[in-house]
Amino acid sequence: MTHPGEMSCAEFQAHLPELIGSGQDMSNHPHLRECELCRALLADLQTIADAARQLFPQEEPPAEIWDKIESALKSEDGKEESLPKSK
Ligand SMILES: [Zn+2]
Repeated sequence: MTHPGEMSCAEFQAHLPELIGSGQDMSNHPHLRECELCRALLADLQTIADAARQLFPQEEPPAEIWDKIESALKSEDGKEESLPKSK
């Protein structure tokens, strides 16, 4: 039995860079409410994102920041899968 709206960590993490990039509030995300692991991961990524904003206060963080976040996610996951680039 699967619960509606429930997603796996891999699915959630695949969407993390765009969720962070969009700047939306994720504190009420159903996956985060149930998953300690992804909460910790998100905190790490937000630290990176905050650092990027301090480095580039006048501009959007460059795309390579999100590439680094994606790389970090892949290394956390331990497998190399290429995420589809959405522009
Ligand atoms: Zn999770």
